[in-house]
Amino acid sequence: MGNEQSLNGKVAVVTGGGSGIGKGAALRLAQQGAAICFLDRTPDNALEVKKQIERSGGRAGVFKTDVSVPEMVENGIKQAVEKFGRLDIVFANAGINGVWAPLEELTVDDWDTTLTINLRGTFLTLKYAAPYLKKNGGSIIITSSVNGNRIFSNTGASAYSASKAGQVALMKMTALELAPYKIRVNAICPGAIETNIGENTEISPNLDEVKIPVEFPEGDQPLSGHPGSIEQCGDLVLFLASDASSHISGTEIYIDGAESLLRG
Ligand code: NAD
Repeated sequence: MGNEQSLNGKVAVVTGGGSGIGKGAALRLAQQGAAICFLDRTPDNALEVKKQIERSGGRAGVFKTDVSVPEMVENGIKQAVEKFGRLDIVFANAGINGVWAPLEELTVDDWDTTLTINLRGTFLTLKYAAPYLKKNGGSIIITSSVNGNRIFSNTGASAYSASKAGQVALMKMTALELAPYKIRVNAICPGAIETNIGENTEISPNLDEVKIPVEFPEGDQPLSGHPGSIEQCGDLVLFLASDASSHISGTEIYIDGAESLLRG
């Protein structure tokens, strides 16, 4: 029997691959033989990961892209296919936490920014990748979140949670639509993972007033006692990208050390 997780000869687009979960996945997919096309609005970090992949004998390209801008996504994916000749795997992962604030304080701009990057960005990635994936079949993986389905103690995340729930609905709809083309679509739903995403999160001081106390500290996951790692996410993305998951589509998989069971 062959190695079901081999990605030799495959080409993957990874949005937001310059850091965090996208970086963990890009390195893991590259280790298994895939060429990695980074679509990131911050290309400097992606260029560093590209170099790391090339030092290990892999192939990679960086295409500066803001996933919320249709022309950039269309062009980024086109350039990726021109460079590597095909497309097999799409990891639609780029996202932000945005502003977390009580509903009355959350501005329309805050709402639009979060929904535009997280949900519209995912839609655009799938929309412009689909024609290429239809040629050979493939696998799409979307990074949603535990917030897409469960209500956590962290109130104020209404725009973020709505964007993450929207991604799950988009995943299910497209899984059905693309099934005849042998394209699988799944979502990963991470709990707290150690990345830099928090650095750009704006959290309103007024949230303290509405915070619901829970005994189990946020981020402390029952399985391990701490947040998950980008390498653990990379393993899950590899599983969903490879033939090891050949009959799995339309599913969201939690990667949260059982934390969401405490908060659902
Ligand atoms: P991160 O900040 O480390 O990485 C995000 C990457 O996305 C960066 O490389 C950034 O440049 C890129 N990016 C952001 N906006 C972009 C845009 N408009 N266009 C192109 N690239 C853009 O964060 P992370 O924690 O790795 O987050 C990745 C995904 O995981 C996000 O969708 C996030 O919502 C989700 N997530 C993270 C956690 C967590 O605890 N870290 C938990 C659940 C879900």
